[in-house]
Amino acid sequence: MKSILETPITYLKGVGPKKADVLQKEIGIKNFEDLLYYFPFRYVDKSKIYKVNDINNDSAYFQLKGKISNLNSVGDKRTKYITAKFYDDTGSIDIVWFRGLKWVKEMIKPNTEYLIFGKPSVFKNSFNFVHPEIEVFSEIENPIAMQSLEGIYSSTEKLKNFGLGSRGISKLMKQLLIQVESEITEKLPDYILQKYNLIDEATALTNIHFPKNPSIIQKAQNRLKFDELFYLQIELILNKKISKQKSKGFIFERVGEFFNNFYEKHLPFDLTNAQKRVIKEIRSDFKTGKQMNRLLQGDVGSGKTMVAFMSMLIAIDNGFQTCIMAPTEILANQHFNSINKFVEGLDLEVELLTGSTKKSKRTEIHEGIQSGKLKILIGTHALVEDTVKFHNLGLAVIDEQHRFGVAQRAKLWKKSTTPPHILVMTATPIPRTLAMTVYGNLDVSIIDELPPGRKTIQTIHFFENKRLRIIGFMREQIKKGSQIYVVYPLISESEKLDLKNLMDGFANMQHDFPPPQYLVSVLHGRMKNEEKEYEMKRFVEGKTNILVSTTVIEVGVDVPNASVMIIENAERFGLSQLHQLRGRVGRGSEQSYCILMSGQKLSNEGRKRLEVMVSTSDGFEIAEEDLKLRGPGDLQGTRQSGILDFKIANITKDSHLMLQTRKLCEAILEKDPQLTDKHNIIIRNCLQNKFKKQVNWGKIS
Ligand code: ADP
Ligand code: MG
Repeated sequence: MKSILETPITYLKGVGPKKADVLQKEIGIKNFEDLLYYFPFRYVDKSKIYKVNDINNDSAYFQLKGKISNLNSVGDKRTKYITAKFYDDTGSIDIVWFRGLKWVKEMIKPNTEYLIFGKPSVFKNSFNFVHPEIEVFSEIENPIAMQSLEGIYSSTEKLKNFGLGSRGISKLMKQLLIQVESEITEKLPDYILQKYNLIDEATALTNIHFPKNPSIIQKAQNRLKFDELFYLQIELILNKKISKQKSKGFIFERVGEFFNNFYEKHLPFDLTNAQKRVIKEIRSDFKTGKQMNRLLQGDVGSGKTMVAFMSMLIAIDNGFQTCIMAPTEILANQHFNSINKFVEGLDLEVELLTGSTKKSKRTEIHEGIQSGKLKILIGTHALVEDTVKFHNLGLAVIDEQHRFGVAQRAKLWKKSTTPPHILVMTATPIPRTLAMTVYGNLDVSIIDELPPGRKTIQTIHFFENKRLRIIGFMREQIKKGSQIYVVYPLISESEKLDLKNLMDGFANMQHDFPPPQYLVSVLHGRMKNEEKEYEMKRFVEGKTNILVSTTVIEVGVDVPNASVMIIENAERFGLSQLHQLRGRVGRGSEQSYCILMSGQKLSNEGRKRLEVMVSTSDGFEIAEEDLKLRGPGDLQGTRQSGILDFKIANITKDSHLMLQTRKLCEAILEKDPQLTDKHNIIIRNCLQNKFKKQVNWGKIS
C-alpha cells in the first residue's frame, strides 16, 4: 500500500505544477515526505517587534515594523544595487539589495507599512540590512497570533521569486501537517525509544516545524538526528556484511623467508608502534579468506610506504605478485626508488611502469608480469591498462586515494578471478567519525605516530609588508644548503590572474636571486608534461635552489633537502591543502620552516585557518578544524559520495550520537542479523521502505 507521504508535492494545497517544479529543482523536494523532512535550521522569536534604535549588534535577528523610502539605484551595469531607507518612530536604517532588483522596484511602495526581518550587518561603522525578509504588514494574516517561535527554512532566490521564502515554506508545512499528521508512523522500536529517552516520531516531526515551546525543540531535533544516524549506520553495516560475503579473498597463511629476512637483517630503522599495529591488522585480514579492503590513513611522513612494503613481502612469501599504483609519474618514481632501497639484499626485482616507459622495457615488464616472475610492479594508472596481465596479483597498494576513482580501482580487481587484497593509502587525514561514514565499506587503519626524531616544522604567518625579511631569510637558508618551495594558489575561476601572479612572483624571485649564484625554476599545470618533469627533476636533484610553483607539487613529493615552504596568499588555501603543502618539508634532518604569506585584510575564516596552521601540526586536529570551519561537504572526495547530505545530523557536532548509534546497530545486528525478532521488525520494514526494493537478507549473516 502506498503511503500518503509518497504523494507528489504538486498535489499539496497551495503548490501546483510551477511551484512543484522549483521545489524539486532548487531543494530536491519531490513529494510530501521530502517536504516533511525539510527542517528549519534555526528558530526565531517573532512575537517581538523591535525598534530601529534597539539594533545594537550584528549577531542577532531583528523584526521591525516601519516604512520604506528613498529607493535609489546605484552603480553601473556590472555592479548595480539598490539602497533604501527603512524608518520607524525611533530612527532609520539602510536596506541594500544586490539581487532581485526588478522585484524590489515593483514591490516597494512609499507610505506602506512593512514588517522586515533579518540580521543586520555592519557597513562603514553603521548597521544596515542586506536582503531582509519583507512583508506588507496589512497582508499578514492575523499578525497578533504570530507564531512566537518560528522555524527558519533555508530558501533560494528562485524559490523566493515564487513566494517560497522561509515564511512561504512554513505555510506549506502547516498545510502538509494538517493532511499527514495522523499518518506519521513510528520508525524505531519501543525498547530503543525508552532506552535512549526519545520522543515519538509524530511529536518530533510536528514540533520540529512548529514548536509548542522552546524546550521541545531540542528533543525533537535529537529524536530526528537519532533516526537519521541510526538508519545510516544500519545501512552501512549491512552493506559491509554483504560485500564481505560477496568477495572471497586469497589466504596468506604464513609469514615467510622474505618478510623474516627483511625484518631481521635489513630493516633500516625500528618500526613505530603504530606501524607495527597496522601491519598486524593487515596480517590478520590476510588470514580471513575474505578480500581485504583497507584504508591506511597516516599523516605525511608517518611511514606508510614501509607498512605497504612489508605487507607486500607477506603476499610474496605466499607466492603472489604485488603492485603499487600512484597518481603521478613523479610519485611512482619515488615509490620505485624507496622500494628499490628496501629490497637491497633481498633477492627481489622491482619494475616501474608508467606512460613514459620505453616500448622494449614495457614488453619485458608485460612478460615478467604475465609469467609471474616479476613480484613487485610500481607505476601509474598504466598498471590498469588491458595489456597488463598479472599471473596472480595478490595485493594492490593504491597511494593517495582521492586521485583515483572507484571505477579505476575496480579495474585492478578484475585483473584476476579472485580479487586482490586492496590497501589504499591516504595522507589526507579525515576525522574518525567521518572516515567511519564515508568509508563505511572499508576498514580503516591509522598511523597516528611519527617516526622519532622528527623536528617540528616551524610555522610562521607574515603579512605582505614583511617581504624583505623573508628574502633575507631565504638567502640564509640557501647559504646553509637548503632548497625552498614557493607556492602560489591557482584557483580555476581566476586562473588568468593567478597565473599572472605566479609568473610575476617567479620574475621577482629571479630578480632577488639572480644567476649564476642562484637558480630558480618554475612549475605549473599549463606546462607540458616533459617540461614539468624536467623542472621537477632539477629540483629533486638539487640543481635549483628555489622552485616557484602551483599546488602541482602538493601530493607526495619527497625532497629531503627542501626545508623551507613559502605559501603565497596562504589565506586562499583550504586547511587540508595547507597541511599537505607543509608536509613537503621537514623530511630531512634540518630544522624546517613553513612561512604563510597573506594580505593585510583577512576574512574571519581565513584568519582562523592560518591560526590553526601556526598552532598545530597534527593532521587529525587540522582535519577536525577543517570540518568545523567548512562542513563536510567540501572535504576531499566526500562531495560525490552523497552520504553526507544529512537532513539534520551534523557530523562534527553529533559525533557522539554517531558512535552511540553505531554501537547500538552493531549490537542489534549481532544478535538479530536478519532483523526478524518481533521487536526489530519495525526496523526491517523501515529499511525495506527506504530502499523501495528487497533488501537481500540472504546475504546477511
Ligand atoms: P608517508 O607516510 O608520507 O608516505 P613515507 O613512507 O614516505 O611517509 O616515510 C617518510 C620517511 O620516513 C621516509 O624517508 C621513510 O624511510 C622514513 N621512515 C618510515 N618509517 C620510519 C621509522 N619507523 N623510523 C624512522 N624513519 C622512518
Ligand atoms: Mg607517501
